[in-house]
Amino acid sequence: MACKSCKEKPVIRLSNSNVDLCKKHFLEYFQKKVFKTIRQYNLINEGDHIGVAVSGGKDSLTLLYLMSLFLEKRRKIKLTAILVDEGIEGYRDLTIKDAKKWCKELNIPLKIFSYKKEIGKKLDDILKETKEKSCSICGVFRRYLLNKSARELKIDKLATGHNLDDEVQSIVMNQLKNQIKISARLGPITGVKEDKRFVRRIKPLYFLTEKEVMTYAYLKGLTSKFNECPHSNDSFRGYVMDWINHLEEKFPGSKHAILNSFLEIMPLLKKDFEVGEIKECKECGEPCSGDICQKCNIVKRILK
Ligand code: SF4
Ligand SMILES: [Zn+2]
Ligand SMILES: [Zn+2]
Repeated sequence: MACKSCKEKPVIRLSNSNVDLCKKHFLEYFQKKVFKTIRQYNLINEGDHIGVAVSGGKDSLTLLYLMSLFLEKRRKIKLTAILVDEGIEGYRDLTIKDAKKWCKELNIPLKIFSYKKEIGKKLDDILKETKEKSCSICGVFRRYLLNKSARELKIDKLATGHNLDDEVQSIVMNQLKNQIKISARLGPITGVKEDKRFVRRIKPLYFLTEKEVMTYAYLKGLTSKFNECPHSNDSFRGYVMDWINHLEEKFPGSKHAILNSFLEIMPLLKKDFEVGEIKECKECGEPCSGDICQKCNIVKRILK
């Protein structure tokens, strides 16, 4: 076994092509792929103010590092990091330290927003009062807070650390729940261009697998510990993730096959399920499809 490009000792085998790469050629491959995604899908334009959603985990630190590298020569593009502190003891408090360290190192301003301040309670405390699934609550609050804070910071697009595995899980989850309409909102760039109430999301790590992101973060020394949220395995996503990983192990290339076939039908889905009228939540004023947004519904149900 040797690197395909130089015959050095490999650090990784790319599962969809069975190609082995050494450290140098893997780092090159990874960076090239991220920059190509940004250009191919027109994720960033001159004059943009880009937000980077950081959590301090491997995906977001890899994203932060590569975004700062991509924008090194593009001085007209502004970068701000946004961190949502859910209030998960023994997890988020640790990753926040890494996020602060890297924002300082890369000279990127960091803005922190917490559930405690914005919703009224930490996630740990909210979960003591309900039997509802942690990720269903947390995901809604997180989306709400990211959109609201990014808009208030006048951010044009918010980059998230979603990788190929995350996207494939979402595609499969939507199929299993018969929610194909929600898949129409996926892709490397999402959101409604014409509606200023929504900050568009961009996913520069879209074509890199979890294993590749982990390897990159490790080789670059971005993080030494791979912390997992203690609630991540309780979720439907956790089950789907295990199932897809098992499939990939038996049949390498399955993840890429799911993603590529989705990308072929994505334009049709987006056309068929065009976003309808967007209203404003009667409670908080955030954009939503009904009268009251999901965040306010959860707050009413659980916290009042
Ligand atoms: S795994 Fe679930 S509970 Fe943990 S941070 Fe993510 S969405 Fe929140
Ligand atoms: Zn090599
Ligand atoms: Zn609301």
